[in-house]
Amino acid sequence: MYILLNYYIYAKLLYMKHPSCPNCSSDHYVKSGIINNRQRYKCKKCGYNFTVNKLGKKIDDYYVNKALQLYLEGLTYREIERILGISHVSIMNWVKKYNIKRPYNSNYHPTYKILSATELSNYFQDTQNLSGAGVLITELGDKFMLIKWERFKE
Ligand SMILES: [Zn+2]
Repeated sequence: MYILLNYYIYAKLLYMKHPSCPNCSSDHYVKSGIINNRQRYKCKKCGYNFTVNKLGKKIDDYYVNKALQLYLEGLTYREIERILGISHVSIMNWVKKYNIKRPYNSNYHPTYKILSATELSNYFQDTQNLSGAGVLITELGDKFMLIKWERFKE
């Protein structure tokens, strides 16, 4: 789990170092002046103006969405902290801020796996993995997170 956490922090830093347009994801942009001491860029593809700071905000929003998705799926604050590398205190604050409530069911707890696209494909080839169970897949960095719950799990 710590390897995973470090990987995401690394991916995050890498992304911020080589930003792409927050509007269309193009990496064809030119410098377009300084606004409030920050370098501003103009996307050559769609014309959108952005600063690197704005990109940082965009990444933060991505993590807020992922954290809340996982919370709704029944994962604990500590589990989300381990997966995303975000402190459980931040997650608790977001749950409060966005007024997220999940149906009360203390027995329900899904299992989860982090898989690459190929691993995901292999997983679905085996029908044993799917009988009597439901799965939900969400993107996570350049991998996928598979959340699985079983119908008759004790
Ligand atoms: Zn653009």
